[in-house]
Amino acid sequence: MSYLVLARKWRPLNFDQVVGQGPVVRILRNVISRKRVPHAMLFSGVRGVGKTTLARIMAKALNCESEAGELPCNECGSCREITAGTAVDLHEIDGASNRGIQEIRDLKENIRFLPSRNRYKIMIIDEVHMLTNEAFNALLKTLEEPPDHVIFMFATTEIHKIPVTILSRCQRYELKKVPFAELFQLFRKIAEAEKVTISDGALEMIAREAAGSIRDGLSLLDQVFSFGGEKMTDVDVSEVLGLVGSQVLGRLTAALLTEDLGAALKILDQVCTAGADLKRFTADLLHFVRGLIICRVSKAPGELLDGSDREIAEMTELAARQSAETLYQLFDLLLKGAAEMQYAPYPRLVLEMTFAKIVQSGQAAPIASLIARLDELLAAAGGDEQSPAPPRSSASFLPEKKNPEPVAADRADSLRISELPPAFTVRSRQAPDPADTVSPDDSAVMTGPAAEPPKDVRRDWDDFALYVGERKGWMAQIVKMCDSVRLKGNELRMKYEDSTHCPILQQADNLKVLTEFAQDFFQRELRLRISARGVGGGGNGGDETVALQEERMALRRDPLAQLVAEVFSGQVADVRTGPRSRESGAGPAREE
Ligand SMILES: [Zn+2]
Repeated sequence: MSYLVLARKWRPLNFDQVVGQGPVVRILRNVISRKRVPHAMLFSGVRGVGKTTLARIMAKALNCESEAGELPCNECGSCREITAGTAVDLHEIDGASNRGIQEIRDLKENIRFLPSRNRYKIMIIDEVHMLTNEAFNALLKTLEEPPDHVIFMFATTEIHKIPVTILSRCQRYELKKVPFAELFQLFRKIAEAEKVTISDGALEMIAREAAGSIRDGLSLLDQVFSFGGEKMTDVDVSEVLGLVGSQVLGRLTAALLTEDLGAALKILDQVCTAGADLKRFTADLLHFVRGLIICRVSKAPGELLDGSDREIAEMTELAARQSAETLYQLFDLLLKGAAEMQYAPYPRLVLEMTFAKIVQSGQAAPIASLIARLDELLAAAGGDEQSPAPPRSSASFLPEKKNPEPVAADRADSLRISELPPAFTVRSRQAPDPADTVSPDDSAVMTGPAAEPPKDVRRDWDDFALYVGERKGWMAQIVKMCDSVRLKGNELRMKYEDSTHCPILQQADNLKVLTEFAQDFFQRELRLRISARGVGGGGNGGDETVALQEERMALRRDPLAQLVAEVFSGQVADVRTGPRSRESGAGPAREE
């Protein structure tokens, strides 16, 4: 006895047996029961969802000789002939191989004659979008004035390729992809009927792989059945079909989230040994993580996911242990890895390094939690600044382990410190650095972070020029041109390279006005000393050292540095400038 493929053996014979097309089936039943039969029907949908199957059931029902009960009866001569494929009044035409005008002419010739035994002559044209324009035009004439005894049924996977003129003359039935759960149930029923014991996990894999297409699923099931014995496990099915089960994906994801790189690499090795296609596997992994995200954020993940209740329950449990941010980041890194794999000569290495990056990224703290920590510190800054409240971040990036918070805090510290610009190091507050106390003019340096930072003559010089500009435009121009400015005690020293700019500011009236501006702007008692290089002013020799010192002072006073010091209960210890600051591990270039 020859083997009949499952798709043919299990082809539905009546509307009841059609899987996953509830709404369309309901409409078609109404068409039959109300006897309002359109002359042209168009079934559209992806492959393997039952377009021609429904057309045939419809043809049977229209020509059924039975008077009672639900149609088609599948008992009468007409029904039997259609099932056997010998009905003279049913013509099935493959649009892909009969796409020219001659075929349509033959068809038109054919329909001129009345049906030889049935009520209707029925023309089923599959893949109708393949017809040529001329063929469509010829068909259109017939559709405009169809003979009463003719019914056209078209099936297509690409409805957009069909001319609107044809579409507008058809009753359209849009078939959906068959939902996962219905595929799963169907396959289980078939397996039982075929007396094959197959694990639920294996059936889930097949149902997922079928991606909504019954025919695809049945052909996978054919492969599995023909492979083996009467008992099929997940492992058998993954070997036969080269698929990876959700349990493997779950274990791999869990390993990545718990930062167990060794375990993750081992699972990958097993997958590769089993012969799975790596790109395909990566895509499955991405879909799995997407599923986790949906389980994490959705109250009814089953509506969005292809998976059995058991699978979704397992995924929900795994997802619940992670923050949504963790899962987004995991997806993001995997997606980047998948993109890199596309053109990589060694895709497996790319995937392995992607895993390494994921595990590493788990050791960083999320910016959100750091910002939250900063906010808390700033809020608490009015009180005891030595003991800031410990962070109570809701968004810990780490997979929740036994005791995640202290770990997160430690890591936040190390991350932030490694992110600092090279000019800053932060040291513990326990050991005050004498360098802080010997600075000449830093009375306002260590103010609390909540107070508005004092204006700095160097950093805020441009703002000062603007301030002057609002009051005396011409003066602002000269203020801006100042080449160097520094504060020595209460003396604000402005120095010009070009001596021509000085005299006008040095005039008593102007000097007085500018001094007032400076005092108002910088909010301190000031005297102004304006000089050109080489004309008056201090000796040139010490200038460079002084300038360097002042640059360091400005860096030390920078609000970012202050804030960082505050966050880590430390203080700015060393200020390094120039190339030495980029040497790591070198002795500290201490400020004098
Ligand atoms: Zn019948």
